[in-house]
Amino acid sequence: MRVTTAFNRLLALPGTTVRDVSFEPAQITVTVALRRRRLACADCSHSSRARYDTRTVDSSWRHLDLGRLRLVVRAKLRRIDCPTHGVRTEGVPFARVESGFTRDFEDLVAWLATRMDKTAVRRLVRVAWQTVGAICARVVTDQLDPGRLEELFEVGIDEVSWRKGHRYLTLVTDHGTGKVVWGAQGKDTATCDQFFAELGADRAAKLAAVSTDMGAAYLKSVAKPGHAPNATVCIDPFHVVALASDALDQVRRQVWNQRWVLLKRPERLTDTQAATLRKLRRHGGAAWRAYGLKEALRAVFAGDLTPSETTELLDRWCVKAARSRLEPFVKLTGTVRTHREGILAAIRLGINNARVEALNNKVRLITRRAYGFHSAQAALALVMLACGPITLRLPYEQTHVRPHSV
Ligand SMILES: [Zn+2]
Repeated sequence: MRVTTAFNRLLALPGTTVRDVSFEPAQITVTVALRRRRLACADCSHSSRARYDTRTVDSSWRHLDLGRLRLVVRAKLRRIDCPTHGVRTEGVPFARVESGFTRDFEDLVAWLATRMDKTAVRRLVRVAWQTVGAICARVVTDQLDPGRLEELFEVGIDEVSWRKGHRYLTLVTDHGTGKVVWGAQGKDTATCDQFFAELGADRAAKLAAVSTDMGAAYLKSVAKPGHAPNATVCIDPFHVVALASDALDQVRRQVWNQRWVLLKRPERLTDTQAATLRKLRRHGGAAWRAYGLKEALRAVFAGDLTPSETTELLDRWCVKAARSRLEPFVKLTGTVRTHREGILAAIRLGINNARVEALNNKVRLITRRAYGFHSAQAALALVMLACGPITLRLPYEQTHVRPHSV
């Protein structure tokens, strides 16, 4: 078998014929020619036999490594004059638009990024983390199910931090499938409005339930006319429990700050410190009581109670927490009472709290990996790859006909 024939089969790049193979110390360069005569615009379905010109410089793409060697594919591309996009370099069937990598290479990197930590991915495939982000974004644009906003009945809207310094994404989850179906940069009312604009009036009218956290931003957007006209607004109990954990943390910190007062001799205490000491004596075991309140609240939403039992226990919890003299819990009681109807609606509609929490944890794990990305788009892409309606396939698993293939 000739080397070029062997590399034709080895690379399996659709629509190409291998013309030449050259070996360098750390790299194999494979020169290919496109089999098709027609030129295709890289950005739309326009194709033509008429070439504008041929590029003087070869284009190149990195493909899957071969043994220890990097493998680079080269081709001479023509330019097409597209009526919509103007003079553009023709698209190729084996690589995505504007990419320096083949589809196979990008599919592998995207798959790895959802399953491996940053350092491992970078070392294995030898590309910068920023580049991994750009690859994720291209794969998502290409593979995201365009029908994902159809047939939405129960959705959750949530925020997640993707980078230090208050950079957030807003994510919309389909409670039916447990997949993230929409996302955008930001976490304010306008961000959430974008979702409803994209959803459109017809699909929005089908929403039966929308669950959010207790922040005003999303609730305000959900309440706007036409956004979710037939939906019951719910509060994910998961967020309520998270607030109770925050309250417990605050109590713990206060207790910690007060503890050193106990180490001082009483006669050396200032007036304020003496007051603190009296308070400590009176409210002994504050951290313990706070812990008990948090656990009791978690038990209310454990999922093994009927809606009426849940209602009764939640109200009883509010009375107890309001009388606890633990300020963070007294404050939390106010929040819970304000959103009581929404919290109980989530229980009544059976929005699966365990699943919401599991997805939330998965999203948080994956966004920590995205902290090295510099664009919200890349962070969102990684979330979509890991938690969205996308089936990632490794190169050898791909049997479907690829777009543009000839
Ligand atoms: Zn075009």
